Amino acid sequence: EKLEQGVEKSRDGLLSKIGKSIAGKDTVDAATLDDLEDALITSDVGVKTTVEIIDRIEERVAKDKFITQNELQELMRDEIVALLKDNNPDQPAEFDADFPHKPHIVLVVGVNGVGKTTSIGKLAHLYKMAGKSVVLGAADTFRAAAVDQLKIWSERAGVSIIQQGQNADPAAVAYDTVASAKAKGADIALVDTAGRLHNKKSLMEELGKIKRVMGKVVDGAPHEILLVLDASTGQNAMQQAKAFTDVVDVTGLILTKLDGTAKGGIVIGVSNELNVPVKYIGVGEQIEDLQVFDRVAFVNALFG
Ligand code: GDP
Repeated sequence: EKLEQGVEKSRDGLLSKIGKSIAGKDTVDAATLDDLEDALITSDVGVKTTVEIIDRIEERVAKDKFITQNELQELMRDEIVALLKDNNPDQPAEFDADFPHKPHIVLVVGVNGVGKTTSIGKLAHLYKMAGKSVVLGAADTFRAAAVDQLKIWSERAGVSIIQQGQNADPAAVAYDTVASAKAKGADIALVDTAGRLHNKKSLMEELGKIKRVMGKVVDGAPHEILLVLDASTGQNAMQQAKAFTDVVDVTGLILTKLDGTAKGGIVIGVSNELNVPVKYIGVGEQIEDLQVFDRVAFVNALFG
């Protein structure tokens, strides 16, 4: 329900555009496909992914030229679900809190303001609810407020936090966090980082150092690298995603602020273009407002 409310604007935008492209027509001609293409692009699906979707639809309508508005909508829905499946092959059906190792180390990256700290708080809550012990690491030492915010989230979620003084070395905080999680026998550590994108080389060096020290404490750590993107920024989020995936092996995406944006199409484009699965979506500011990404539920919400 939250998801439906969340993507309402995206849905209204997309549906009204699709509606306009096929209004009063009983055949799908080249002009209709052009209009559909525009509808997807202006919903922030992205050019490359839009072209793929249109190609698939073109192939299918080539066989059966007479197609109703509902059939076309069904067709688009099927094609988008299929495309999301290709790019989210191991998608869990529900929240998965069980790992074959302990502690499970998650590094969270993304630029300021995208909802990184909030998403970590929400994730900590999900793990806590699943009966797991969680340690947060405040390795975003660049912004003074970041540590305080994470502290507030740790209290909300009822989990512990490792922090150091302002301007501490992020890698040192990351090291402490992983070491503490290991010593305590915690199940999960979630480490916040400062995502400064001003310079690819320094970002690569900083994240590289953090990863190295984590791996020294726990074999194979970090086990997950989650990139947080603000869906309401549309193609801007796509650019950030490209910049991060260029320098670090992102294992999953968190798309935030899907509530109240008309740019929900970005969810489809970003996983497709980057070949990185969307793991979670943020649909509000509250602690429960993080959902495991479910492509069918998402597409259903998008198409009403
Ligand atoms: P950070 O700088 O990346 O750590 O971003 P924050 O976690 O501090 O979030 C920035 C702002 O975005 C805050 O006001 C959050 O409440 C808000 N925010 C985060 N996630 C969501 C979401 O899914 N939906 C909405 N509406 N707001 C969000």
